[in-house]
Amino acid sequence: MSAPRLQIDLNKIIHNASTLVSRLQKKGISVTGVTKAFLGAPLIARAMLRGGVTSLGDSRIENIETMRRSGIAAKMILIRSPMLSQVERVVKSANVSVNTEIEVLAALSVAAVKARRTHGVILMVELGDLREGFMPRDVKSALDAIGKLPNLSVMGLGANLACRNGVAPDDRNMAELSALATRSAEGVASDAFTVSGGNSSNLGWVFSGGEVGRINNLRLGESILLGREALNRQPIRGLFTDAFSLVAEVIESKIKPSKPWGTLAQSAFGEMRSVHDRGDINQAIVAIGRQDVDPDGLRPPDGIQLLDASSDHLILSTDGVKLTVGSEISFDLNYSALLRAMTSPHIAKSFADINLFAQPRILAHMLPDAA
Ligand SMILES: *Cc1c(COP(=O)(O)O)cnc(C)c1O
Repeated sequence: MSAPRLQIDLNKIIHNASTLVSRLQKKGISVTGVTKAFLGAPLIARAMLRGGVTSLGDSRIENIETMRRSGIAAKMILIRSPMLSQVERVVKSANVSVNTEIEVLAALSVAAVKARRTHGVILMVELGDLREGFMPRDVKSALDAIGKLPNLSVMGLGANLACRNGVAPDDRNMAELSALATRSAEGVASDAFTVSGGNSSNLGWVFSGGEVGRINNLRLGESILLGREALNRQPIRGLFTDAFSLVAEVIESKIKPSKPWGTLAQSAFGEMRSVHDRGDINQAIVAIGRQDVDPDGLRPPDGIQLLDASSDHLILSTDGVKLTVGSEISFDLNYSALLRAMTSPHIAKSFADINLFAQPRILAHMLPDAA
């Protein structure tokens, strides 16, 4: 098989999705599967749908178009405010978009009229993380403005926390969103008004046992793909954390001194190094680099240490045996490493069990131990 490659186990993704979907269902919360980390790769999107997510969300219209071209008919939500230059494409391929600017909503309305479609709108509300959203005091007037725009239909409210400043979803900010929803949807049945409370960083709050109020949807990417919540990156009980692994090939393996010699200046990425001399070491190079992956997000197998990375070389040391040239090393990835690896044209995507896709196999004994 070609290296480097991302090995993707669709059955683990189905399992993670269906486990989260059923736990959240008990709280009255539906799941939008977020597809941006894998560029909308149709097989992974279908795995999420197989796991029971009720819609797919992506921040980029290109990824939504990829999924549409592959024949996925599910409801799709653009989860980043549309670019004015893309409103026609948004109305054509996405059923719903999240929105934060009246100017954009007006353009979406024009595009929707032209396309003879109704486009759904979720208004995003700023709850303190200071990324996207209307300030809470402006929500009412924004809703009134949308009411005057033809071919737009308000589906509900949404919020996003943790991504910029790490503000955690809690009883207080979630109650604020619920209260805003109550005020915004007078006379509308609560299940007919989406209140999308956030992303994988909301899971700790949801499962802490308190009241979820009117929150009835979450947009989940990382927790489905990597089996971890997004505030402290702890594994979620009963989920696989290894649905993805990155395999790269050893191209050099030698005994070398651990301390560089010569005059030291900046490295390729502008760092000044001071290296502790620990004598000769087993040093190996695998053929992958910063262009392909975020090296800080890789975890090598036990007994192997990741020393450094440049554009195309990842440098490892091993405790015991020397690695063999041509052998393959498999790394676990975090979200940042996964994002970049999925985007690299140099990394092949290899799906395990692709022919089992029609009949998912859930292997309870393969589940990781997790808190
Ligand atoms: C990326 C994103 C998500 C999904 O976040 P995860 O932490 O991967 O679950 C949800 N909502 C918005 C607006 C996003 O940009």
